[in-house]
Amino acid sequence: MTHRFQAVKGTRDILPPESALWNRVEQTARRVFATYNFQEIRLPLFEETELFARSVGADTDIVSKEMYSFEDRDARSLSLRPEATASVVRAYIQHGLHTRPGLTKLYYIGPMFRRERPQKGRYRQFYQVGAEVLGSSDHPALDAEIIEMLLVFLDRCGLREYTLYVNSIGCSDCRPKYIERLRGELQKVKDQLGADSRRRIETNPLRVLDSKLPEEQPIIEKLPSILDHLCDACRDHFQKFQQELKDRSLAYEINKRLVRGLDYYIRTTFEVTAPGLGAQNAICGGGRYDGLAELLGGPPTKGMGFALGTDRLLLALRQVEESGGKDQLDVFMVWLGASALRAARMLARRLREQGISTELLYEETKLKKALGLADKSSARYAVLIGEDELAQNKFTLRDMRSGQQRAMSESALLRELAASAGASAAEE
Ligand code: AMP
Repeated sequence: MTHRFQAVKGTRDILPPESALWNRVEQTARRVFATYNFQEIRLPLFEETELFARSVGADTDIVSKEMYSFEDRDARSLSLRPEATASVVRAYIQHGLHTRPGLTKLYYIGPMFRRERPQKGRYRQFYQVGAEVLGSSDHPALDAEIIEMLLVFLDRCGLREYTLYVNSIGCSDCRPKYIERLRGELQKVKDQLGADSRRRIETNPLRVLDSKLPEEQPIIEKLPSILDHLCDACRDHFQKFQQELKDRSLAYEINKRLVRGLDYYIRTTFEVTAPGLGAQNAICGGGRYDGLAELLGGPPTKGMGFALGTDRLLLALRQVEESGGKDQLDVFMVWLGASALRAARMLARRLREQGISTELLYEETKLKKALGLADKSSARYAVLIGEDELAQNKFTLRDMRSGQQRAMSESALLRELAASAGASAAEE
């Protein structure tokens, strides 16, 4: 028996009508981000493995267990990108973007690859929409503005329920002292922790705060908070950042356990969660990072950005069914006879030039059957062309919802359809 191919575990096909939703979300990102003066960067899907080992961290789960790495023919190790910040910063250095005036504001859209255990909202090929600001500013207003942009984007996508969590993780002055204190406290409760957390007391105690194990929660809640250990400069930055959020009427909650395990992360961290997603409820994570460019051989650079999981955003939107209306076909063209086909072909071309989506049958089909097909295609209108229409130099426009139909000239038809297509575009 021949093998029946299936998409590889953890990957999937995005079929219509769902693909229309994806397009809409990505288009919304492009529109909103452009209004904040962000420009798109298109990055390679694979890079040198070393880039991720250095930037994401060799001892993180992502790099140590989850990367799709392979040896190229010249024996270099390459990896499918597990995230894109490293590539953005690599490109920033490689192309000398720091020599351009002002801040560099970039966004990217595309697939990422991590060999995680697949489950709802967790895939091995998943998609992110992300944005990064690179340059010399670490003004708290910048942090708040990026978050505003993200939330405007979520609102435009139609996401109504979500929570923004923020925290500060200090800097290279205050964080090491906090980590020592945390390590000391963790040693005291070591016996009550699971194997992973016990190991992290030595390797990366901040990550213990990330633990999702139910039995560890009461212990973690009692651990000292980083917010009580910030230096004056970091405390001031965090306060101003919160004031900037308030000034923009952006609601947030402080989550003192929101941390990042790598040294170059600094001060602001944030996360957006949405209800109804089960364990994988984080739709977006982000924060400030300094020193990543230097770590990759570039000039001193401050950075701030986020990565949003498109798969999870779409799960949260749960609009697949209701969306049918917006991406539907505008016109299903029905023709009878060879001369009608000629007229239909010309009209279809003109409609498509106007941005009106049009389906034209290749073979002559009886009227009743053709209207049945138009109905199944969920077309908003059918345009009928037969002998009568040809004789009068008119077209019949049939409203597929009401069943009403009217004969009209080509120019009237174009006007009517353009107005209707324009109205549905404006709804988006
Ligand atoms: P991270 O790069 O780990 O901070 O992830 C940023 C966002 O990407 C998360 O908040 C998720 O929404 C999304 N994400 C991360 N990993 C996966 C995955 N395996 N499948 C689907 N979405 C993911």
